[in-house]
Amino acid sequence: MNILQCTFCKKPFASLGGKICPACLEQIDKDFITVRDYIYEHKHSNIDVISEETEVSKQVIVHLLKEGRLIIDGPDGGGGLLVCEMCKKPINTGRMCKECMGKVAMSMDKNVTSNKKPEPKADEPNVKGSAKIGS
Ligand SMILES: [Zn+2]
Ligand SMILES: [Zn+2]
Repeated sequence: MNILQCTFCKKPFASLGGKICPACLEQIDKDFITVRDYIYEHKHSNIDVISEETEVSKQVIVHLLKEGRLIIDGPDGGGGLLVCEMCKKPINTGRMCKECMGKVAMSMDKNVTSNKKPEPKADEPNVKGSAKIGS
């Protein structure tokens, strides 16, 4: 077990693998429901308004968006706080835009094929046996 500093409250806690302490996780789960319900009723909102109206911090909302648990449906829904990790284009959910996800999937396919072991070369035919007999 590791002692880590919680990403949200900055307190040290005994981590089982995550970077968020159990108290914050519980709070985030509650915030998630609040924000999800708000977005459900206000579909084309953006992160600034949502944060103000629900009193959930933007950091938590961005975290939920990155995890793909929330989608803010609307232009600039992420308020520019959530950007594609590859091309830095603003996105509404997840870590990458659709185009970059496509590219990554393609390059992963390439890696799989290029990692294939080369065909084992057939051994050179043994020529010793063909030594001339007599002459
Ligand atoms: Zn915490
Ligand atoms: Zn991108």
